[in-house]
Amino acid sequence: MKKRVVIVGSSFAGYSTALNLAKLFEGRHDITVIDKTPEFTFLPSLVWHPFGYRHSEDISFDTRPIYEDHGIEFIQSTVYGFDLEDQLVYTHQEDIPYDYLVLATGTKPNYSSIKGYVPEHHIFSICTMHEAERTRLAWKNFLQNPGPMVIGAAQWSGYFFAAYEFLLNALYHLKEEDLLDQVPIHFITAEPYLTHFGIDGMHKEMKGCEHLFDRYGINWRTNAEIKELKRGKVILSSGEEIESSFSMIIPQYSGIDAVRTTHNLSNFAGLIKVNNEFQHLKYPNIYGAGGSVHIAQEDETRVPCGVPRTRYCTDIMAKTVAYNIAAEILGGSRVSVTNHRLYEYCKQDMDHLSSLLFRNADDQSHDLDFIKKNSSDKWANMSISEYIESSFDHEYLKI
Ligand SMILES: Cc1cc2nc3c(=O)[nH]c(=O)nc-3n(C[C@H](O)[C@H](O)[C@H](O)COP(=O)(O)OP(=O)(O)OC[C@H]3O[C@@H](n4cnc5c(N)ncnc54)[C@H](O)[C@@H]3O)c2cc1C
Repeated sequence: MKKRVVIVGSSFAGYSTALNLAKLFEGRHDITVIDKTPEFTFLPSLVWHPFGYRHSEDISFDTRPIYEDHGIEFIQSTVYGFDLEDQLVYTHQEDIPYDYLVLATGTKPNYSSIKGYVPEHHIFSICTMHEAERTRLAWKNFLQNPGPMVIGAAQWSGYFFAAYEFLLNALYHLKEEDLLDQVPIHFITAEPYLTHFGIDGMHKEMKGCEHLFDRYGINWRTNAEIKELKRGKVILSSGEEIESSFSMIIPQYSGIDAVRTTHNLSNFAGLIKVNNEFQHLKYPNIYGAGGSVHIAQEDETRVPCGVPRTRYCTDIMAKTVAYNIAAEILGGSRVSVTNHRLYEYCKQDMDHLSSLLFRNADDQSHDLDFIKKNSSDKWANMSISEYIESSFDHEYLKI
């Protein structure tokens, strides 16, 4: 009898799981993808948006024609809950039954975890297209009225590299506009050392990064926990108060509400706990991939950092999920990936990024011009067109 796999989320994790499953099923079983939007937005490129290197249409594409070509059903709807016993996904239009469920719902910024973090007011971020657009306007205004600036990543944020990328882009622009001496800069991070990235990361880049920060007069605070954000001020738990006319802070992330509020589905942060095959610990017909999955931090840090679920790491989870569901339905061997290997995949993403950001950072030849040179492509990731192309590549199926 035909089985139905329902995938909620159609970004890196959902898109990749769906296409891989379609190749493995060859039409023998049904695949349904549900997302509130058919547009796949390439989140890593949001960092570039405020600086004018990307427009919304450059960093998103419509997934529907691709799904149609692969015999995958797409339903545009917002999921508001799940019935795990009766195997139903609740949407505002209908209840959708599943035999297998894949949660590829990513994360959402958890602003309320920091007092005063109200994006509509005075703090900027780049977590969503809407916020990146707001930040773009604010940045334009800031260049007209420069003052002290704080860039950083909060406790539990995980995506520290986005803060570094934003900082170097900002530095480049300030340098181009001849404003560097009018902008005292602070970089605040929960990491225990620069370039830790939540994965006890890039020791070899740490000194280069420090030298770069020293050269541009950036005051940095590691092990920093943000206590409160006020208009014109960032307050740390240490009691330090830092003046700021422009603050861009990567917040903490948590699981989406529909997952967080379903009994027995996720942990306190709304993230799903899975085994090495990305199978839910209590419900074996439920799988998770990408941002929605809990990955424990390997090292202990004074301030909790959170672990980034990067694009490559997400892709590996998605392929593993596709293989394992196909193995269960069609027969064949299952695949497992240890936490340690996931860390290695994250490190590969981070290694690529940091070697570009901090290459030659400890000599004077690191002049920030590489930002401009690489702006036509996203240096740390494949461009979006390469990403789409690679998803049709046969080799892509390999883990
Ligand atoms: C600012 C930023 C910069 C980043 N930079 C990099 C980088 O340089 N390199 C890198 O490797 N990684 C980077 N990442 C991480 C990368 O974006 C993630 O690895 C990736 O987005 C995870 O994909 P995902 O599919 O799990 O989740 P997401 O991309 O978050 O997608 C979740 C999907 O679920 C859908 N959804 C959510 N809730 C519902 C609902 N209730 N109903 C229906 N649909 C729903 C959403 O619409 C979305 O399509 C960055 C992340 C951020 C935030």
